[in-house]
Amino acid sequence: KMNTDLGQHLLKNPGVAAAIVAKANLKQSDHVVEVGPGTGNLTVLILKEAKAVTACEFDPRMAAELTKRVQGTPLEKKLKILLGDVIKTELPHFDVCISNTPYQISSPLVFKLLSLPNPPRCAVLMFQREFAMRLFAKPGDKLYSRLSVNVQMFAKVSHVMKVGRNNFNPPPQVESNVVRIEPKNPRPQISYEEWDGLLRIAFVRKNRTLRAGFLGTAAVLDMLTSNYRLWCAQNDIPVDDSPVAGEDEVDGMEVDQIAEPEEEFKGFSDAEDDDELPDFFKEMQANQKKNGVNRKKRGRVTELVREKVRKVLEDETELAEKRARLCDEGDFLRLLYAFNQEGIHFS
Ligand code: SAM
Repeated sequence: KMNTDLGQHLLKNPGVAAAIVAKANLKQSDHVVEVGPGTGNLTVLILKEAKAVTACEFDPRMAAELTKRVQGTPLEKKLKILLGDVIKTELPHFDVCISNTPYQISSPLVFKLLSLPNPPRCAVLMFQREFAMRLFAKPGDKLYSRLSVNVQMFAKVSHVMKVGRNNFNPPPQVESNVVRIEPKNPRPQISYEEWDGLLRIAFVRKNRTLRAGFLGTAAVLDMLTSNYRLWCAQNDIPVDDSPVAGEDEVDGMEVDQIAEPEEEFKGFSDAEDDDELPDFFKEMQANQKKNGVNRKKRGRVTELVREKVRKVLEDETELAEKRARLCDEGDFLRLLYAFNQEGIHFS
């Protein structure tokens, strides 16, 4: 009995399995990590072409099936099975990743692969069609999102093939695509946390202007202020914490009610489609409470940060009126550079 909560849709078309492995261009010296081997439809093909395979599987029953499948064959010695959730499992160094991915972990898996200290040469991964299309979406495309910018900063993404739902047993609800992700080597000299932190803010509402995204929300300004304080402390720069006279801060989100015509864009979802985003805001606010950032602590330093942010958006990059869904990698890089020059940090 398959557990569809674990995304157990086995690949039943051997032609598709062979094509996936072929697209990985394996060398006889390669160490491959396979995520979610299931009963081993891909694993046996990979084992024939690689030096070693580490397969990480969550379901012990599946792992037992796979063990049985290779037992007593010459492939047995090349296979190591790690039981557990791949996201929480420490992986050995490997050259290539191959996976018919359980769709629930698509996003965390991609980020795990890209943030490894020593990323693989390439990853050939099966995803739900819409997720795959977000991976290679360009500015202005309907599916352009934080995921697109993030992944394309650190890797070259290419489309391999479409796979219809009837190639699986049981068939999933959705169509699938295989993509190849080749992490850039050398890795761009940019802090992943800073880059992702900036993108998270920009893409909370990808159809808002950057001005509204960075200046329109008290939570964002508070986070940037507490990062700024930290940066000042590390660089021996004194911080003016005195209150601003007459300033009456309202508890909660909105500091500036920035009047901005909400443009209607049919087909553009307003909120980012990552489930993580609402959590990101909760997390941010929880951290602010923990760090004692509240209305009493807002003072001149908050004003200073607000002014720096304004200056970066309006004067230095002239990106204030641009919407995240239209910004390309170069725009975000310029923005990050200008913010960092002002001591504004995102992690
Ligand atoms: N590779 C097999 C195939 O193509 O026939 C099975 C693919 S099936 C889509 C996904 C597999 O991933 C299942 O065997 C499932 O138990 C496993 N899985 C689900 N979540 C996982 C996780 N967090 N870590 C590791 N494996 C997981």
